[in-house]
Amino acid sequence: MIGKRLILLFIAVILVLTGCTVQQQTFAPLEAGEMRVHFLDVGQGDSILLQLPDGKAMLIDGGNREDGKEVVRYIKSTGIEKLDYLVATHPHEDHIGGLIEVIRRIPAGKIYMPKVTHTTKTFTELVEEVINKGQKFHRARAGIIICDGSSLRIEILAPAEDKYEKLNNYSAVVKVEYKGVGMLFMGDAEHESERQMDTSRLSAQVLKVGHHGSSTATSRDFLHRVNPVYAVISAGKGNDYGHPHEETLKLLRDEGVQVLRTDEMGTIVMTTDGNSITVEK
Ligand SMILES: [Zn+2]
Repeated sequence: MIGKRLILLFIAVILVLTGCTVQQQTFAPLEAGEMRVHFLDVGQGDSILLQLPDGKAMLIDGGNREDGKEVVRYIKSTGIEKLDYLVATHPHEDHIGGLIEVIRRIPAGKIYMPKVTHTTKTFTELVEEVINKGQKFHRARAGIIICDGSSLRIEILAPAEDKYEKLNNYSAVVKVEYKGVGMLFMGDAEHESERQMDTSRLSAQVLKVGHHGSSTATSRDFLHRVNPVYAVISAGKGNDYGHPHEETLKLLRDEGVQVLRTDEMGTIVMTTDGNSITVEK
């Protein structure tokens, strides 16, 4: 009797321990021709992993410095051994911090970043890490095509100019189009950059909302031009900035957009065959 109890207790402890440290993937394995996008829960920050339908992988941002190890572990848990494309949207810590560990641990193909520098230690270390690996930065700017296949196209829609007052507006904005499905990843781009983006390229079913749902991003006009079905907001629970802002949430509600938030749902995973989109969790 006692033996049985001990075994049950032992199993319970194991479950609790693994539950805390290993985020089990409960969704189906990726089928040929499917694309999967993981909006990682990195608290107040951004990190998005894309398993592309051609078997390649892409990472947009890596969360804060302390998220690096977890981002690396998550990427490896999907079976990815190389990141073919890596985008550092802009030099703020909550986007590039975790990339230092990622670049250290996982081979990267092309690394994209907007042409802007920052004075922080994190930025300097990222640049050093890239140089140490014998890599270089490719400039992220509106008009750059990352991939142009028959059914998959990845392009950069912003920044459109060389100088901005706010660092957020230097954000590399990435548009991924797979057959009939479009996804738009905004980084922290705000109103000024939104106004400059080519309307003919904006339409997307999934919008990774700019700047963690701040009211300084996602104008009503911009939202109309994108006309998404899903809006994904990456933000930390109880963050100091009050993200996502109520104005943004109200706007998205008013426009009938389905809002998915990492601060409420944890990591959000979507799978698409190029026609329909399934939200795995
Ligand atoms: Zn940010």
